[in-house]
Amino acid sequence: MDFDIAPEDDPRRLEIRGWLKQHPKPTARELLDSGYEVPHWPPPYGLSANAELQLIVDEELDRAGVRRFGHLVAQNNCAPSLLTHGTAEAKARYLEKGLMGEELWCQLFSEPSGGSDLAALRTTAVRDGDHYIINGQKIWTSLANHAHLGCIVARTDPHAAKHAGLSMFIVELKNNPGVTVNPIEDMTGYENEFNEVFFDNVRVPATNRLGEEGDGWRLSMQMLGSERVHMGKPGAVWGYGPTARDLIDGLNSIGKLRDVGVAEEAAKLYIEGEMIRLLNYRRLSDQVNAKRPGPESAVAKMLAAPHGQKLLDLAKRVHGQAGLIAGEAQFAEPTAESKEMGGRGSWDVGFWFSPAITLGVGTQEVLKNVVGERLLGLPRELDPSAKGDWSENLKSRDKAA
Ligand SMILES: Cc1cc2nc3c(=O)[nH]c(=O)nc-3n(C[C@H](O)[C@H](O)[C@H](O)COP(=O)(O)OP(=O)(O)OC[C@H]3O[C@@H](n4cnc5c(N)ncnc54)[C@H](O)[C@@H]3O)c2cc1C
Repeated sequence: MDFDIAPEDDPRRLEIRGWLKQHPKPTARELLDSGYEVPHWPPPYGLSANAELQLIVDEELDRAGVRRFGHLVAQNNCAPSLLTHGTAEAKARYLEKGLMGEELWCQLFSEPSGGSDLAALRTTAVRDGDHYIINGQKIWTSLANHAHLGCIVARTDPHAAKHAGLSMFIVELKNNPGVTVNPIEDMTGYENEFNEVFFDNVRVPATNRLGEEGDGWRLSMQMLGSERVHMGKPGAVWGYGPTARDLIDGLNSIGKLRDVGVAEEAAKLYIEGEMIRLLNYRRLSDQVNAKRPGPESAVAKMLAAPHGQKLLDLAKRVHGQAGLIAGEAQFAEPTAESKEMGGRGSWDVGFWFSPAITLGVGTQEVLKNVVGERLLGLPRELDPSAKGDWSENLKSRDKAA
């Protein structure tokens, strides 16, 4: 790691504190206009902040208890692609509303035919004048039941090779004839996370295409890479739930750290949490020093997901039978962030939701492939369907099934 954490009297910190004094409870508009909503973005939205300034802004907003308004899927996944690859019309129509949390976004990638093998998707987008017509089905789409918009990847050229025939679009979900969203119940029973989304002759203006036709695979990989960076933080539920520190404070508050076995497990979790934190700093250091981000985000996500599961499991176990009953935790609820994920970062809902964390944002096995191939230089996994006319490959695949 090669950067210093800015000291308390750093002028950049003082400037932000001065602004926060004048705006102790900023509105979405004020935060966006200040550049603090997305500091790393270029003006007029952000401050073109390097990673170090971004960290300072994050720390100062956290300290002042100021939450950002943009929802995480818009902020981390879709809006950066729109900024870089969107048309002027689409940026004018969608960007600010997404960043101010007025419109929610979802990511329409996975399909019943497979999520890990994303490029095998079957949803089509066919050009019709200055529109595209979308047909197909997505599944496991987080928040689609609330979302106004989605970033969808669909096949625009069925005869091109598997990865070359894909394109990405922004699709409006609310009040759009032909779009059907069906929530899927999950075992938290709390609020629907997942949905299946059907597209039946849905018209999308060509100005809503992101990037060039056929560029959908590259854009999807960029979006997933950026998502992993944000979902590999220390702490449960992709970093939005309790941390090992929260657990240790909780255990201490009910005297459980006197149990040597519990103390040992807690210490191991604390060490893991620190390792993940340092991996995140290393990634930040690469950014500060303008190095291309490596596969560290996959490593951090791969470690953070089971780490969170283990710490929620220990929190439940120390409560004995009471751990089976919602609302019986004797620990204080961990962080304000737990509310951001629809309550999934709380001790109870976080525990029920935690099995999903090693699947979403790339399964453990797929991340291991990324690390094996890109970090360790192991041979790449063979994909016989990657070459040639995709529609022919699909026919043989369906015949074999
Ligand atoms: C909490 C959560 C939120 C999600 N949100 C979204 C969302 O908003 N939008 C969206 O599009 N999708 C979303 N998903 C779907 C997610 O991206 C997929 O579940 C994931 O990509 C796995 O795909 P799959 O479920 O089709 O499983 P499959 O890809 O069918 O995998 C099944 C099993 O096979 C293993 N496997 C697959 N390929 C390989 C391989 N090459 N090598 C070794 N093992 C392999 C997998 O690890 C897994 O264990 C979400 C999932 C979860 C759990």
